[in-house]
This record gives sequence, structure tokens and C-alpha cells, in this order.
Amino acid sequence: MYVYCDFDGTISLDDATDFVLSNLADPAWETIEQDWLDGEIGSAECMRRQIALIRANQHELDDVLEDVVIDPTFPAFANFCSLHAVPLTIVSDGVDYFIRQILVRNNLSHIPVIANKLTIVNPEGMATYHLTTPHADLDCLSAAGVCKCRSLTPRDLRVYIGDGRSDFCVSHQPELVFAKGRLADYCFGQDIPFIAYETFADLTHSLMSAVPRLKVDALITPRHAAA
Ligand SMILES: [Mg+2]
Ligand SMILES: [Zn+2]
Repeated sequence: MYVYCDFDGTISLDDATDFVLSNLADPAWETIEQDWLDGEIGSAECMRRQIALIRANQHELDDVLEDVVIDPTFPAFANFCSLHAVPLTIVSDGVDYFIRQILVRNNLSHIPVIANKLTIVNPEGMATYHLTTPHADLDCLSAAGVCKCRSLTPRDLRVYIGDGRSDFCVSHQPELVFAKGRLADYCFGQDIPFIAYETFADLTHSLMSAVPRLKVDALITPRHAAA
């Protein structure tokens, strides 16, 4: 089993990019956001233009990232995956630097991240911010910076966890989808089977009943640990 997980709104309670922009960017970022909401531009173009509007040095950025709150039950879920040797990868249409800083603060820096790439020029001074999209796919209808449907490699049992629009294109692929928010509405409308969840605590329970082998492993592991 392989677990792929969205970040913004799924692991983090707030959208980390929106949080940074609302604290540190020129207010013009909101006009660009509206163009994206209206469907006039894709998320890749939207984020590239918004990130360039950040007016802060790296230290000020790091301070703001300190205040992004994650689901308090996510660290236990990540631990559950480690315990069962289940690979867990974050697949996000957000910003790699933001996500990694938040993971470091929560002692979760071991989790691999696929996301848009931030470059900070002159970080100590009049810093400028540039976003590139190495995981974009121009053929995907999502027009996202990270095309999640191209980020999932073929595996035996893929579990996907998400909450929003950036998860739509990928949700047709995994063998098991956990959805909340707009992703749940989308899956329902597209006849994609999914399990509804609210927090990662629900997920740990669902995974144990959805995949009975894990339950057996959970019983075996403590005995191995004792041996
Ligand atoms: Mg999300
Ligand atoms: Zn895609």
C-alpha cells in the first residue's frame, strides 16, 4: 500500500499559500485569486504571479509560516504509516518551501514532498520570490502547477487523501480515495467511490478496517519489537 496525501486544507487546516499571501503580499494578489476562481487562469499561472508579490525577507516569511496550523492528528497518522512500513508522500499544488518549513516545525521532515518549487533570491535583503512548476503537465485539464494525476506512479494499492480542486484530476486513479469538502462533492458527482473523513484520526480507523492486513500487522509488530 502507498499513501499519497494533499497538503493545504488536508494536512494544514489553513491554505498555507493563502495565509502567506494575506500576511505578506501586495494586495493585488486577491485580484489574481479572483481570476483563478472565475476560471480565467489555471492555478499554475495564478500562483506564479501571486508568489512574485510577496514583500518580505526570508526571516519574515519563516515567522509567518510558524503560525500555520496542521491537523493535530496528522503526526499520529504519519507515525502509523511508518510503523506499518507504508510509504507516505505529500502531493501538493502548493509551495515546496512553505510545506517543508511547516513539516520541520512539526518533526515531520522525513516525509517526501512533490510540490511547486520556490526560489528565493537575496533572502536576507530585498528578497524576491520565484515559483517554477517542474511537475506541471500541459496536457492535463487541471492546468495546475502540479498535475497530481501524473505524480502517482503505478502501484498495487494506492490510497489518496484530499479535500479540494487540486485533487480532482488524480481522484480517478487510486484504488482507495478519502475525501472531504469539494473533493467529496466531486467524487460523488463523478461516481468515484470514496470514504468520507474529517480528521486523520478517522483515517487511521478507516484504513485498519478497509485493509484488514494492516490490522494483523498491528498485532504482530509489538511482538517483534519485544523479541
Ligand atoms: Mg487541498
Ligand atoms: Zn492531472
